[in-house]
Amino acid sequence: MNPVRYAQPPTPDAAIASALPPGGMYIAGGTNVVDLMKEDVERPTLLVDITHLPWHDIRRTPNGLRIGSLVTMADAADAPEVKAEFPAVSQSLLLAASAQLRNMATIGGNVLQRTRCAYFRDVSQPCNKRKPGTGCAAMRGQNRMHAVIGTSAECICTHPSDLAVALLTVDALVHTRRIAGTRTIPFEALHVLPSTAPNRETILERGELIEAIELPASAHARNSVYVKVRDRASYAFALVSVAAAIDTGGGIVRSARVALGGVAPKPWRSHEAEAALVGHPATTATFAAAARAATAGMRGYGHNDFKVALTQRSIVRALETVGGTA
Ligand code: SF4
Repeated sequence: MNPVRYAQPPTPDAAIASALPPGGMYIAGGTNVVDLMKEDVERPTLLVDITHLPWHDIRRTPNGLRIGSLVTMADAADAPEVKAEFPAVSQSLLLAASAQLRNMATIGGNVLQRTRCAYFRDVSQPCNKRKPGTGCAAMRGQNRMHAVIGTSAECICTHPSDLAVALLTVDALVHTRRIAGTRTIPFEALHVLPSTAPNRETILERGELIEAIELPASAHARNSVYVKVRDRASYAFALVSVAAAIDTGGGIVRSARVALGGVAPKPWRSHEAEAALVGHPATTATFAAAARAATAGMRGYGHNDFKVALTQRSIVRALETVGGTA
């Protein structure tokens, strides 16, 4: 058994100072950290409880909504303003996990959760993300759930968050706090690809906390959808997911966002698909061209080859839903 100390610092700055030394980890809903501790993947020496920090509300701002990072997945999904103005965000939350988990897990923790790669969670297996330099068991192993784009020779895992995919299509901003003060990060810049250092997953510095996620109102965010394809109808991670947000006028696409889940080591925004949509008629032919553009750089590792065609079909389905051709 590994001894773990527990602390509940009274303020955000005190929490950051507590978690800075090696071995310190934050805990909020605990739905990811506790799992990883049980599997011996994480071995914190200090758990810094942040559940009492003042980030539990959903507020209207001049530009849209600001959701505190400690708002639960369930509360964010059910908020009437999230449902009406950012439907893809609400849908992505409702299609994730189970009702019990959604009542515990926070939105800040959700976007920072670790990969569900089975080899990452099996400490008897080589894994460059868990232990840099040991190799990647998935590369030649069971890789049906793994990535087909954005991979490296070091890691081919997928990012598991549904919410993170939807946030890309509504131009979300991440408000953080660190020792040096606060900063705002475009959501698209939060996660990084594995490259030669798959153990690094975001640009957050050690101890940096997410305070809130801001959702700017827009015409395309209001007309957004989240499509999730998985092995069973509930409580399963995405084989492929698509968030699509689109604004049309006179039958022409004026603005569009397309993001993918289950296919890359980070939530994947497809600028290629968006370029194939904007300025073109909102037709199934245009949506199919966007799907081809999004998948042009994809390649499988054997068991997951099917994801390329599945992604194409899922993109068309999502775009037809919001593009008026379904
Ligand atoms: Fe580890 Fe990534 Fe390989 Fe999975 S895919 S075993 S997380 S290095």
